[in-house]
Amino acid sequence: MSLFARIATISFAVLLTPVAAADLAESVERRVEAVMPEVVSWRRDLHEHPELGNREFRTAGIIAEHLRELGMEVRTEVAHTGVIGVLKGGEGPVVALRADMDGLPVTELVDLPFASKARGEYLGQDVGVMHACGHDNHVAILMGVAEVLAGMGDELPGTVLFLFQPAEEGTPDGTVGGAELMLQEGAFDEVLPDAVFGLHVFPYPAGVIATRPGGLMASSDSYKITVTGKQTHGAVPWAGVDPIVTASQIVLGLQTIVSRQLDATLTPSIVTVGKIDGGVRSNIIPESVDLIGTIRTFDAETRLDIHERIRRTATHIAEAAGAKAQVDIDLGYGVTRNDPELYQKMAPTLRGVAGSQFIEAQQTTTAEDFSYFANEAPGLFLFLGVAPEDPSLVYPNHSPRFYADERALPVGVRALTALTLDFMADN
Ligand SMILES: [Zn+2]
Ligand SMILES: [Zn+2]
Repeated sequence: MSLFARIATISFAVLLTPVAAADLAESVERRVEAVMPEVVSWRRDLHEHPELGNREFRTAGIIAEHLRELGMEVRTEVAHTGVIGVLKGGEGPVVALRADMDGLPVTELVDLPFASKARGEYLGQDVGVMHACGHDNHVAILMGVAEVLAGMGDELPGTVLFLFQPAEEGTPDGTVGGAELMLQEGAFDEVLPDAVFGLHVFPYPAGVIATRPGGLMASSDSYKITVTGKQTHGAVPWAGVDPIVTASQIVLGLQTIVSRQLDATLTPSIVTVGKIDGGVRSNIIPESVDLIGTIRTFDAETRLDIHERIRRTATHIAEAAGAKAQVDIDLGYGVTRNDPELYQKMAPTLRGVAGSQFIEAQQTTTAEDFSYFANEAPGLFLFLGVAPEDPSLVYPNHSPRFYADERALPVGVRALTALTLDFMADN
């Protein structure tokens, strides 16, 4: 059964007679098909002209113009370059749909007629810029969904908030940005959505939709531990306190948090030390050593529990050695958690869109700032498979060879359209 036939029989049937519902479903599907050539050409154009986070000026301009042409109220320069469009329909629920817009400091190596030759400045360096995470697809898909839903006119049962978000990949200087800043600047102040949906392209086979209830993507926090001992000659260690040996013990102690202390059946977690920095030459024991690393987990309580254990492990090991450990934890993106109830409610819709291509996603230890929106309203985030058939062309996100197969684009448009309409019909 086709998606909109399914919508007609299952969801719209609640509101409309079967004949009216079937007519509506058919007209929505016609609109999806009609918009696809535009979606493909937007995606190619955006791909050729990627922009780094908080500098998505051209991208934002194209989006704002499109939304205005569709008759929406449009807010621009939200969190620097973000764009919010409000599409008002009937008195039904409010659904927010989110697409991120930024490219990465990566020089494209894919052989495409619309490959990026763009350059930009990143941390003072001249770099190639590429949509190596595929956000060009997200923007093009959501522009297509906007056109389909705006085309429904009075038949749209509720309100849709279109969130085009900058700087998902983080701001170059580490300041607050992206989804968090959009919320701080009032993205949800006027209308609080009843649900928020988003998707990310991922190297599943093209056309696959993958998601899961609960934690889908990890929280990502970084930490710094400064171990301060007492400087001395390398030949006279008893005259000082060696921060290198102490830091080494802390590295091993941190590894026991996940392996020996957390409930292994609850959720996967990671504590990584990424850098150890201390000392200048072979026969001097330095005054201090810095450790930096990353923490990933899929559960909000476990996240805080790990922070506490890192503090305890580092300070007490240091104390045992007569040294001091200063622990600073920098909160990054939260867990991207799919609301279990919303997942159960919307799974039939996704099955209707993708059939057997709708699968349960594996958890991924990478992070997403969609989590900020999903902390404010029940959220559901999807992975959209974009891997080409030829396995030699399949590369992960952020690779200079990352390539998204355009066959996935209509699936993305249908998924977000159907989630919106089915959610509105069910509520
Ligand atoms: Zn990315
Ligand atoms: Zn991304």
